[in-house]
Amino acid sequence: MTEKQLESTELHRQVKKHLERIQEMGITEIKGSRRVAREPDIILSLEKIREDIGDCTRCQLHEKRTNIVFGTGDPHAQLMFIGEAPGHDEDIKGEPFVGRAGQLLTKMIEAMGYKRSHVYIANIVKCRPPDNRYPEPDESKTCYPFLLQQIDAVKPKIIVSLGNLATQTLLETKTGITALHGTFREFHGTTLMPTYHPAFLLRNPNMKKPCWEDLKKVIEFLKNSSSS
Ligand code: URA
Repeated sequence: MTEKQLESTELHRQVKKHLERIQEMGITEIKGSRRVAREPDIILSLEKIREDIGDCTRCQLHEKRTNIVFGTGDPHAQLMFIGEAPGHDEDIKGEPFVGRAGQLLTKMIEAMGYKRSHVYIANIVKCRPPDNRYPEPDESKTCYPFLLQQIDAVKPKIIVSLGNLATQTLLETKTGITALHGTFREFHGTTLMPTYHPAFLLRNPNMKKPCWEDLKKVIEFLKNSSSS
């Protein structure tokens, strides 16, 4: 290692130590820049999670998938959406929610005043179930730890779970989305708002209104949490 590299490693170590110290004092944001104290760890952490997943063969879904759909968006997002599983378009592109349901989700995000790139989007499972069937419990169980790691890395202020499978998996319940939607829940150290899946909304446009009511609660929650 050259002297210059040694110096920059030492500087990096000192900056990291300083940031850890001020973080211990409860300072997690520095005016003028977003969550500077956490930034390097978060990005590395998401990269590391993706690296750990590798060319995954942990469950049978790997046999028919084209791409692993890891998740996309702002690694510092305050708002995270969790869907069920990639479909055909997502499998081809390697990105969540890019098909018809994804286009509707993008509209929902924009109606909330965000861009897609401002939020983080992931699914319960990262590989497409053949013929768009529901993921099997063992497939969800195998993939789930990686999603939890992603949530830990992003640390969103609120998660919106989309539809029955995502909501029931995250909340470990058999209660359906009709009963759960629109109610704030606690989940994994953060807040969760269940709402309808955009694919369901495409089939049932009359349910867009109640979904919008749920999303308005999320907007209000984020507004209050950023002013406190
Ligand atoms: N439906 C989902 O639940 N996730 C996607 O990524 C696409 C469609």
